[in-house]
Amino acid sequence: MYQTKTMEKLEMMECPKCGNSMPVKRRELGYHVCVNCSTVSAKRGVPVMRGTGDHTWVDLEVMTQEQFERYEEMENKTKTEITPSKTEGRNLQGPFTIVETDK
Ligand SMILES: [Zn+2]
Repeated sequence: MYQTKTMEKLEMMECPKCGNSMPVKRRELGYHVCVNCSTVSAKRGVPVMRGTGDHTWVDLEVMTQEQFERYEEMENKTKTEITPSKTEGRNLQGPFTIVETDK
C-alpha cells in the first residue's frame, strides 16, 4: 500500500483582478493579486545609457518584471565576464604548501 505524503493544503482565494484562484498564503506575503497579474502589472524603471561618444544621455527604460529580471541576468553575466579569471596564475605549477607566515 502506498502512503502518499499529502502536501500542505493550500487555502485558495479568488484573485481580485482576474478571478483566478490564488493561494491565500500569497496575500499573507503581501501580494494582493495572483502570480499572473503581479508579473504583468509590475513595472520597473531602469536607467539606461543611450547614444555614443559625446552625445550620451540617460534614459529611463520602463520594463515589466520579466524583462527586468532578464536585464539583471544580462548585467550580472557581463560583470562576471569582466572579472579577471583565475587563469592568470597558470604559470605557477603546483603542488604547493601554503605556509602561514604571520605568527
Ligand atoms: Zn490574477
